Amino acid sequence: MFDANPGRERASAPRLLVLAAFCCLALACVSRGLDLDAYRIVDLSHPFDAETIYWPTEEGFVLEPGFEGVTEGGYYYAANAFRSAEHGGTHIDAPRHFAEGQVTVDEIPLEKLVGEGIVVDVSIQCERARDYLVRVDDFLAWEALHGAIEPGSIVLLHTGFGARWPDRERYMGTAERGAAGVEGLHFPGLHPEAASWLVEERVIAAVGLDTPSIDHGPSKGFESHRVLFARDVPAFENVAHLDALPPRGFSVIALPMKIRGGSGGPLRIIGLVPRDAPSSGAP
Ligand SMILES: [Zn+2]
Repeated sequence: MFDANPGRERASAPRLLVLAAFCCLALACVSRGLDLDAYRIVDLSHPFDAETIYWPTEEGFVLEPGFEGVTEGGYYYAANAFRSAEHGGTHIDAPRHFAEGQVTVDEIPLEKLVGEGIVVDVSIQCERARDYLVRVDDFLAWEALHGAIEPGSIVLLHTGFGARWPDRERYMGTAERGAAGVEGLHFPGLHPEAASWLVEERVIAAVGLDTPSIDHGPSKGFESHRVLFARDVPAFENVAHLDALPPRGFSVIALPMKIRGGSGGPLRIIGLVPRDAPSSGAP
């Protein structure tokens, strides 16, 4: 039938659009949960065992066997205890580690530990010079290729030293323990000026790398630690498998043991990489 009242038809079209939009929104709300099938999950933590690398002055990770076997009740049961320094293996440095009055590990806001990640690949520079300090120019070169480092980013430095784990000599420059071992430390780190630039100019949430310390091996004053922690930016150390992440376009979830009053602690950190992300990671 010919429409005798086209005006009413036209008037109802916007309402239909609103209804359609509302339905889409409702559907989006229903499927709002994180669809983990859409992501590749990358384990960025090393395991904790007798091989795990700690600072030369630390004992290392000790698993104390408890009970394992079939109980009198006829069921299997296993339980152990462990002993560990806060700072060893894949771990977090809370700002309190080098800054009096700043937050302890249990007080770090979760917003600093969950967010968009970027990987700055400095492995070529670090292969040439094992005490390499990652500098502002390295970040500017990354930005020229991939775009600006957004505020709130979790910045991961891929030095390539993660591939040397758990060979202490190759990873940290020495297999010696105690004070003599500290003198032999040689591995890359973040330049204090670059640490300052990241917190002041890019307002990052956190920084991490695949070496034992955010300051390079020969450091005596730990200036980058102090710059970051004075601004409440935590650091992740001995991060694993950074080669499995793209330069950007992925998320990081970094959850440390919630030690009340701790200056740091063991860290389980993962990357969530969208399966449809371009393999080059280019924006
Ligand atoms: Zn530490």
